[in-house]
Amino acid sequence: TTHPENMSHDPETPVPDAGGPARLTVLAGPTAVGKGTVAADIRERFPDIWISVSATTRKPRPTEVHGVHYLFVSDAEFDRMIAAGELLEWAVVHKAARYGTPKQPVLDKLAEGRPALLEIDLQGARQVRETMPEAHFVFLTPPSWDELVRRLVGRGTETAEERERRLETATLELAAEKEFDVTIVNASVREAADQLVKLIRSPHISGKS
Ligand code: 5GP
Repeated sequence: TTHPENMSHDPETPVPDAGGPARLTVLAGPTAVGKGTVAADIRERFPDIWISVSATTRKPRPTEVHGVHYLFVSDAEFDRMIAAGELLEWAVVHKAARYGTPKQPVLDKLAEGRPALLEIDLQGARQVRETMPEAHFVFLTPPSWDELVRRLVGRGTETAEERERRLETATLELAAEKEFDVTIVNASVREAADQLVKLIRSPHISGKS
């Protein structure tokens, strides 16, 4: 069922289909903590867990495939998706590009009883908490600040200016851990992924009090 009047990402508007038979899990955390790597490991080893493909206005990196890693869209198309209420949440990330979660695929998967995972930034996670509060919110954190910086520099896909911007964002993002139900420390990708999958599969997790 679709409810076009409720499909804007206005945080005041609850999503009527929220709380379907399967649970939505939202994975967030500071930049370069390895959310994407953990999600990729889950995609490979646990194909029954559906991972949302985000729309973005960012340009594809050489190894990225449209429809697999992201839906790479123009600014005009992103504007259209917002206006049509097609996004569950969206945000400008690193002051550089817009990223958003197409809503209908998420609702469809949950209605089918298939566990769904969103790997999004903190601003997006906050929006989802407003519209789908029964979702499960997981914070991925680095073993240390130094390790986070190492990972950010080591990735080598950003310019120095871009890295600076991302570190600034990461500082703010680390402070958000307390807003989440559960924290997973990403010391090993495989172990972090296993812990996340265990959470995704368990229907009743009591969050932090
Ligand atoms: P990257 O450009 O390195 O692929 O991703 C940059 C950031 O965008 C990451 O922190 C990632 O979690 C976030 N991101 C990816 N997809 C979405 C989305 O659909 N919504 C939001 N809010 N953030 C996203």
